[in-house]
Amino acid sequence: MHCPYCRHTDSRVLDSRVSEDGTSIRRRRCCPKCEKRFTTVEAMQLTVLKRSGATEPFSREKAVAGVRKACNGRPVSEDDLARLGSCVEDELRAAGWAEIPANEVGLAILGPLRELDEVAYLRFASVYRAFESAEDFETEIALLRAERAPTADEPTYDEQAAAGGERSAGTRGAERHH
Ligand SMILES: [Zn+2]
Repeated sequence: MHCPYCRHTDSRVLDSRVSEDGTSIRRRRCCPKCEKRFTTVEAMQLTVLKRSGATEPFSREKAVAGVRKACNGRPVSEDDLARLGSCVEDELRAAGWAEIPANEVGLAILGPLRELDEVAYLRFASVYRAFESAEDFETEIALLRAERAPTADEPTYDEQAAAGGERSAGTRGAERHH
């Protein structure tokens, strides 16, 4: 590992620690030439098993590319997409696959995308699950509604703000002064 400060071609490991979830190792390193210290993280290379049987390294950027298309014209920022990519990677790592079947990558995207934007979710799901008719959309929307129903009584923050944003903002301010 090259030293990131002076590009010296060697470094000495001072300390190694396994992360809490056991999926990576952090190493504290020291450059023998300039004596600066830096940290490296070693994690398993996630491998995606494609339908053709070929494998390729998991790419967060590639996973997000299809989602970006589905988010066209929606209020979803590049930061949102980056967070989604990291969330998907975490989920796949946590699942502990040696080789991830390609369709599992799509499945791991659906959950966080639904949280992010329902329209983009429907677009992505329609491609991913190969919707063939308006009825497929209706079924999916019915599922979305059904899963949203248990919390439908609780107003969201947006609804609270619309109902009396001034007042609730004031209350929050008062609480902070305790
Ligand atoms: Zn150095």
